[in-house]
Amino acid sequence: MTSTPDHANSHRTVNSDRTVNSDRSTARIAVIGGGLEGLATAWALAERGETDVLVLERATVCSGMTAKSSGIVRCHYGVPTLAAMAHYGTQIFDAAQDVLGTDIGFHRTGYVVGVGDENVTALDTNLAMHRDLGIDATRINEDSVHELWPGLDTATFAAFAHEPNGGHGDAYLTGTAFAAAARRAGIRIRQNTLVTALTTAADGTVTGVRCTGGDEISCDTVVLANGVWSPHLAEQVGVALPIRAQREAILLVDRGEPTRDVPVFSDLVNLQYLRGEPNGALLVGNSDHSTPEFADPDGYLDRATDNVVTYGIERLMALLPDMPDPRLASSYAGCYDVTPDYNPIIGPSPVPGLFLAVGFSGHGFKISPAVGRLAADLLLDGVSSDPAVDASVFRYSRFDEGRPLVSDNPYVGAGEMR
Ligand SMILES: Cc1cc2nc3c(=O)[nH]c(=O)nc-3n(C[C@H](O)[C@H](O)[C@H](O)COP(=O)(O)OP(=O)(O)OC[C@H]3O[C@@H](n4cnc5c(N)ncnc54)[C@H](O)[C@@H]3O)c2cc1C
Repeated sequence: MTSTPDHANSHRTVNSDRTVNSDRSTARIAVIGGGLEGLATAWALAERGETDVLVLERATVCSGMTAKSSGIVRCHYGVPTLAAMAHYGTQIFDAAQDVLGTDIGFHRTGYVVGVGDENVTALDTNLAMHRDLGIDATRINEDSVHELWPGLDTATFAAFAHEPNGGHGDAYLTGTAFAAAARRAGIRIRQNTLVTALTTAADGTVTGVRCTGGDEISCDTVVLANGVWSPHLAEQVGVALPIRAQREAILLVDRGEPTRDVPVFSDLVNLQYLRGEPNGALLVGNSDHSTPEFADPDGYLDRATDNVVTYGIERLMALLPDMPDPRLASSYAGCYDVTPDYNPIIGPSPVPGLFLAVGFSGHGFKISPAVGRLAADLLLDGVSSDPAVDASVFRYSRFDEGRPLVSDNPYVGAGEMR
């Protein structure tokens, strides 16, 4: 990995005198990747008045891993900056009709997390941190859990926390809402445009991109926001991204009765999460990353294997023993763009002209509005505008420094619950 002693030295903020750019071959900022994070960045730049931005998407917007997202929204993190970012996310999701001009499919069902004996202290410490950030998060007892989630077996848990403002959203609708809002403000989005190379000046500064067909676009800054596909382009300019594609399967279970209006449940004993689907099915995901399966993001098995189905259903039966007639309705899979600490890289790269918004490691939906805001702040001003959001925690150099971003109060056995 290329390292830089002074992270900020490689960063150029973007000069922002505003004019409409009708030239197809230039932009102040070119964003590679029209997924949630690239589009949130474009939207936030537009909100800040910077509209000379061109988003380049190889297929259609939100056709990448965003389309696979479970869309779970919670502020329950052990890293204060991430909790603050998720908190901002809930505010934008709640106000989407006003802020983005459209419904984005956010269901404020609430969020409940259950932990075992060994994690009660960490839970309480995290909750205190959340409340300091203004997040509505409290301990609740078993009776309250039974009221919120009828049928849930609470015997294996020692404590529960509840966030009434959590829930689940639709990542595809959210991303396309960012795109529409950005476009209305004048930002250009070019679909079916694969970026094949980064172009550079003699001193190595990134000066633009080359697309299929040989089209070149020159710009002040390139934002790399193409998720699991990002390492290849970064490598061309000597930036080694420690990102791998980790395949994760999602199960859709018909319980034999519809699942409606229940909170998202995060089971930190058996490491699974559940939420209701609008059609009454139950969406079940895995949060055990102890044996990751790395995959080719352009050629992975798009369903759960028999082993995963068997193990997933076993864990689910332990949690919901009284399902009337449970059966697997369907399954699919997606790939997380995981970094070694399961947290993103947001900020300038060691190479001038290249900015990184990658490595969201399976939790980039809930923080996406804040990712856009932070990326725009760093691109335009070089600093975060939110005192609760410390941009330095996402620096690229943290891996080489041996200072990964980890929870202040980690859960035993659930280390990747950031
Ligand atoms: C199965 C699954 C479940 C998840 N569940 C949750 C959840 O419950 N809660 C949560 O907060 N997060 C969740 N996430 C994570 C979240 O959905 C992702 O972090 C987020 O959607 C990633 O957005 P992105 O823009 O980084 O990547 P993507 O959506 O993958 O977008 C990258 C885009 O770049 C384009 N691209 C690639 N290469 C090029 C190129 N060379 N030129 C031009 N375009 C290119 C791709 O076509 C793609 O559209 C989940 C993710 C998965 C896979």
